[in-house]
Order: sequence, then C-alpha cells, then structure tokens
Amino acid sequence: MTTARPELKIDGLIAELLALGQISEAEPPVVTRVVFGEADLRARAFVKSLCEASGLKVREDAVGNTFARWEGSEPALAPIGTGSHIDAIPNAGLYDGCVGVLGGLEAIRVLGKLGFKPRRSIELVIFTAEEPTRFGIGCLGSRMMAGLLTPEQALALRDKEGRGLEGWRAQAGFKGPLNSVAASRGRFHQFVELHIEQGPLLEQEGTDVGLVTHIAAPASQRITIEGEGGHAGGKLMPGRKDALTAAAELILAVESAAKSTGAVDTVGTVGICDVFPGAVNSVPSRVLITTDVRDIDGARRDGVLASLASAYDEISARRGVKITTELVNADPPATCDPAIVSALERSAIAAGKTYRKMVARAYHDSSFVAFIAPVAMLFIPCRGGVSHRPDEYASPEWIGGGVHVLSRTLAELAS
Ligand SMILES: [Zn+2]
Repeated sequence: MTTARPELKIDGLIAELLALGQISEAEPPVVTRVVFGEADLRARAFVKSLCEASGLKVREDAVGNTFARWEGSEPALAPIGTGSHIDAIPNAGLYDGCVGVLGGLEAIRVLGKLGFKPRRSIELVIFTAEEPTRFGIGCLGSRMMAGLLTPEQALALRDKEGRGLEGWRAQAGFKGPLNSVAASRGRFHQFVELHIEQGPLLEQEGTDVGLVTHIAAPASQRITIEGEGGHAGGKLMPGRKDALTAAAELILAVESAAKSTGAVDTVGTVGICDVFPGAVNSVPSRVLITTDVRDIDGARRDGVLASLASAYDEISARRGVKITTELVNADPPATCDPAIVSALERSAIAAGKTYRKMVARAYHDSSFVAFIAPVAMLFIPCRGGVSHRPDEYASPEWIGGGVHVLSRTLAELAS
C-alpha cells in the first residue's frame, strides 16, 4: 500500500462515501441496499442532494436512472457520461459502484474548482439496479437504456414474493412510460466508468489504475430439478429420485465445464441452491439452482453452455429427474473504445500514476452503455481483491488516484 499523501484533497469525498455506507438495510458497516428498498431510496436522495449542492441539474427516468448534468458551453452536443450504481447486494461493502458515482461527482467538482468550462456537457449517471438481487437480472437500468430489455420484458420481472417491477417503481416514485427509458446511439458522446477492480491484480502489482480494454460477458440460467420426495426413513435408497443429489452433480458439472476451456477468462458459478421442502427428514423433491458462466470470448462461453446442456440431459436420464433450464440472460462481451482508453492513458501519465491495461471480469453498467455509446472503464485497486463483502476496502490514496485520472479524462473528452 502506498503511504504517499493524495495529491487531490478528497477528504470530503471520503466522508461522503462513509456517510453513504451508513445508509443500509443492515447494521453498518455491512451495506445492503436492494433496489427500490428503503435504504436505496434514502441513498438516492443523499446523492441527489450532493449533486444539486454542486450545481448539477438532476433528472430521473421512468425506471429511476438518475442523470446529474453539468451543462457545457455547447449544450446541444451529446454529453460525456460518467457514473455507476449505488445499489448493493446483501452483506456488501462501501465501495462497489459508489466510488464511480461519488468519485465521478468529485471529479466534476475538482474541474469546477479549477475553473474548467466544459464544451460538451458532463452527465453523472446513477444506474438503477446494477445488482440482480431484487429481480434476478443485473444492470436493469443500463440494460433498459440500451434497449436490451424491452418494457414488456421488464414488466414481466418478478421478485421472490412475486411482486413486479411496476409496483416497486411506483412505490419508489418513478412514473412515466417504460418505453421512454431506451436511448438511441449517440445518447452519450463517450462514457467512462470509475470502479474498484474487484480483483487482486492492481494491489498485488502496486499499480495505481487499470485501463479496461474488455468487459467479460455473463450468461445466467435458472435451473429447476424435479425429482420425487418422500420420508427420509421410509424411502429406501434404490429407486430414489433425489433432486438435491442430482443438483450436486449439476453444480460439479458447471465447475468442470468452466475449467475445461483451459482459459483463465472462463469462470462458472452456482450461487443459489433452494431446496424444497427443506426438511431434515424429507427427501428433496425439487431444487432450484442458478448458474453464472462468464468469459471475454462470447463464443467460448456459449460453447461451455452447450456442453452443460448435454451434461444436464445425461444426469436427467440417469437419475430419472426432470431438469428445466431457463436462460435469464446471455450478454455479449464489450470491447472498450480505444480512443477513450488512450485518453485515460494520457491522463494517467499526466497525473503521474502507474497503470496497466486489463480485463473487467465482473460485468458493469458500461457493458450495456456500450450498445449506445463508446465506453471505457477505469479501475482502482481494492484490498485483497475483496468485493461484495463488508470488508471491501479502497484506500483514500487509491480513490484519489482514480478521481485524479478521471477528472483529467473528463476534461479532455468534454473539451
Ligand atoms: Zn459495481
């Protein structure tokens, strides 16, 4: 860890990050902010008030994507976008998403204090529901902006209790037709997202910032395994159709299929396993699992999905269970815009920061903004590569370095 003092005075930003972290459904320092929940709405209000106090004009769309605009001298030109998300999965930390939102705001404030006058407007964006917690689909707001999730598909989304997007957004105060959310290409002239790495490379190498060249693409499935329940004592082992032991084989198949490509960029995860009826003395009759397979190479990832499909057929036939798969999403990988990456590179050099080019292995709102604008991402280190945990941490020096590079980049792009 570097002990150098940050060159930018970002004490205010750090205080704002800590204050935002106090807004949580869980006891701080644990951060839980599920979209449209009480904490998410308070967090939105907090960030909007900071934006307004900084002289930005705030607007929200029908699904709650929020745009805080610094008007340029040529307001008719497409703006430069920056930003990220402030929702957080259960039991998360302070920095994922929030560094990109509050750090983006800080970069704008730094430029303002320096007397910079943007030619293109700069818009700070807070995307709705980057995390899939509530509706099972990630990047809801940016996905709808990109037109990759239609209003009909959005209205069909349900939470665990069967409650839909419409009820949730109405309660949160977001109105208007959902078909007004989609933006056309050119909505942003360019878009750049600051984010913690969520991996260990930058910290291990002692590199200040990462310039993202590719964003890996996730594909996610919801899989139901239906077997035959019964009394754990009465139902003898021969002829059992235990849905959970079948699910165990599926889970291991996901692991070995991801490893089988031999590429470090292929990863496969089962993160949910719901067992019915979930009693100690009952043979599981039904299991729901989710799979998440990612790669920077879309074809290689789809190859893993195809090999899994035949593995599921084999397990189903051999164990006599019914396996139903439902594709939740399969998104293409994004390639970052070389012109923005070059601007980031020039800014890192000018700011005296060390940098490396790298791949984003988690998906981000930028993956979807890429469909309507050239994008790039700027990573800063996070301790131990830890993210989506309460002990997630990025030092003030790291955050200051990212904000410094981002502010120079925004200045160049908006000039
Ligand atoms: Zn994030």
